[in-house]
Amino acid sequence: MNEKDANTEWDLVVIGAGSGGLATSKRAAGHGAKVAIIESSRTGGTCVIRGCIPKKLMVYASQLGQARELAADYGWRDQLGGIDWTRLKTFRDNVVSNLEAMHLRNLEKAGVTYFAGHGSIEGPGEVRVGDTVLKASTIVIASGATPTMAPIPGIEHCISSDGFWELEDQPKRAILIGGGYIALELACALQGLGTETHLLVRSKLLSSFDQDIAEHLEATLIKTGLTIHRPVQINEVSKTETGTAVSFTDSDGNVTRLEADEAALVATGRHPNTENLGLGSAGVELGSRGEIKVSSNDETSCAGIYAVGDVTLRSMLTPVAIKSGRLLADRLYKGTETTMEYDNIPTAVFSQPPVGVVGLSEEAARAKYPDAVKVYRSEFGGLLFSPTPKERTMRCLMKLVVHQDTDKVLGCHMVGPDAAEIIQGFAAAMQAGATKADFDRTIAIHPSSAEEFVLMS
Ligand code: NDP
Repeated sequence: MNEKDANTEWDLVVIGAGSGGLATSKRAAGHGAKVAIIESSRTGGTCVIRGCIPKKLMVYASQLGQARELAADYGWRDQLGGIDWTRLKTFRDNVVSNLEAMHLRNLEKAGVTYFAGHGSIEGPGEVRVGDTVLKASTIVIASGATPTMAPIPGIEHCISSDGFWELEDQPKRAILIGGGYIALELACALQGLGTETHLLVRSKLLSSFDQDIAEHLEATLIKTGLTIHRPVQINEVSKTETGTAVSFTDSDGNVTRLEADEAALVATGRHPNTENLGLGSAGVELGSRGEIKVSSNDETSCAGIYAVGDVTLRSMLTPVAIKSGRLLADRLYKGTETTMEYDNIPTAVFSQPPVGVVGLSEEAARAKYPDAVKVYRSEFGGLLFSPTPKERTMRCLMKLVVHQDTDKVLGCHMVGPDAAEIIQGFAAAMQAGATKADFDRTIAIHPSSAEEFVLMS
């Protein structure tokens, strides 16, 4: 049994048992530190409970539906009806609960002591959880982030990505506000499951991504049935007898009022969870977006208090939180000096088709290296869609952004089936400093989509 005595002196108290907190605490305990972790909600954090994992299951379910159309193109006789939402939700909830239980078991195995409740810094080296005050020489804050409800009149009638997981019935019609990761992923999942889905976007899709890629994605999504309204300004959200209505104005000044059942969802970014953590009295400084400010070694403005993961707003991605948590624990308890590298972090948007990217977009590369950027681009239909009518074909777009003088590959971008799987491997090549010549020397795997990355001229 792990020691749960309130008088114990802890080497490390971690606030938050999400991706960053779990990784930090287990790694620290593995180095022999006496570690406590505090969680006020379910164990596993956004990724496991209300993010990556249930989302990916929805994406799989949705893709299988689309695969039926493709199967019919190939000659399969399609006999299945629509999705059984209750079955899907039950299965998804079970996967999440099993993972949560696994994380709790893993904490115990690692020798980390778990405290349920809200943790807040009480004084120097002290963290309160309920009636208990834990004494700690080091504190790590890994409290994550939460959906931001955009300042739109009536926004309280919208659900966020957290509320999405509670939907007991499949929406007949859904409205999603936002053009980023979450809105795109959930819109595509719903659309693929048979919900009539409308996406309301104030500017562009994926505005911080390579815009060639974003525009290609948009064209494909429209072709495959998603209704995208952009650029639009959202006027208000209101309650109707049967659900929710959203009114918006397009760039020509036309006002539209769209109704949905319970699923009007807002996904307009996330903000750090820093409330009621005692940060002010501890002297922990926040940045302009409410994030905990940290140095390159993850230390806050208060000595002995560190922060990792989404609460720092440094690349809000699960693998980043895990990696930086582990590196921090290694520095604190193993004496290493390695800090997290924030360049060349690969990422994927699990839209349908998905987007996978690593490195600089064409726009960012041209801004950084004016007149020294060469772009290679390949667009193709792919063998998979050979029997499919053009209007349902998902064409791939792949791009390589290369430094003209050094020949270094600065960015690798793809929209098309398997983009996430393909980009992961090329991220390793870029991490190793690959040049375009290295790509050219690489033998293609044929027939595949990935081979285009080593065949571009
Ligand atoms: P994003 O930052 O990805 O996108 C936010 C979207 O909301 C943008 O389209 C933005 O428009 C729009 N927006 C912001 N404010 C308003 C407003 N007031 N009115 C209308 N639209 C608005 O945020 P998400 O919430 O989608 O995701 C949060 C983060 O979670 C991501 O940045 C990512 O780090 C992480 N995440 C990662 C995933 C993955 O790895 N696959 C999956 C899901 C989330 P504009 O572009 O004009 O600013």
